Amino acid sequence: MLTDHLRWAAQGTRTFLGAMATLPDERLDQPTALPGWTGKHLLAHVAANAEALINLTTWARTGVETPMYTSPEQRDADIAAGSRRPAGELRAWVTESAAALEVAMTGLQPVDWEQKVRTAQGRTVPASEVPWMRAREVMIHAVDLGAGVRFTDLPSGFLAALVDDIVAKRSAAGDGPAVTLSATDHYGSWTVTGAGEPAPVIGTLAGIAAYLAGRATDGVRHAPALPRWL
Ligand code: ZN
Repeated sequence: MLTDHLRWAAQGTRTFLGAMATLPDERLDQPTALPGWTGKHLLAHVAANAEALINLTTWARTGVETPMYTSPEQRDADIAAGSRRPAGELRAWVTESAAALEVAMTGLQPVDWEQKVRTAQGRTVPASEVPWMRAREVMIHAVDLGAGVRFTDLPSGFLAALVDDIVAKRSAAGDGPAVTLSATDHYGSWTVTGAGEPAPVIGTLAGIAAYLAGRATDGVRHAPALPRWL
């Protein structure tokens, strides 16, 4: 598990940095698929996320409570402020913070990974969840950058873990329609518990992951609209 998550975090970071490198500076001022966010907002968010996750590794290593962000307002203010920085500075911030997080994760001992920390959503989790949280961020946001990375480009093991994760979170929230998901190109099926008779959604694993993550719906059939995730 942890080995997979560390590998996906590293792989996702490479994918994100590669996608960022292909985008010229002027593209970073243009909107992304994420509501209200330009490319620069996305870079500031991904860099700030690395620093927030470094805080969790510090918490795990020292036992001293070190939250990801001071507050949700501070998090949003930092993204907005970051989005006004020059492109070159933002690129460097993304690259350096990603490297620093990798170093911080490499420095954790087996006992540190078991330490309980709290996510920005208020969930208490073992620190071993940090690499997964980072993998999810960099992989999905690599697609959001609009540089040509698609869900179909992401590793299938990661996509299956992502579908498991989102199905569990959506089922726990229970604020959307009930859905059963069947992949045409991958073993397994999933059920999101929710309102009404389950709608049978069929698609590729990548299509199902994109749909559940609230991104593209062109990889699935019979897909009802879902509430926000995360
Ligand atoms: Zn994010």
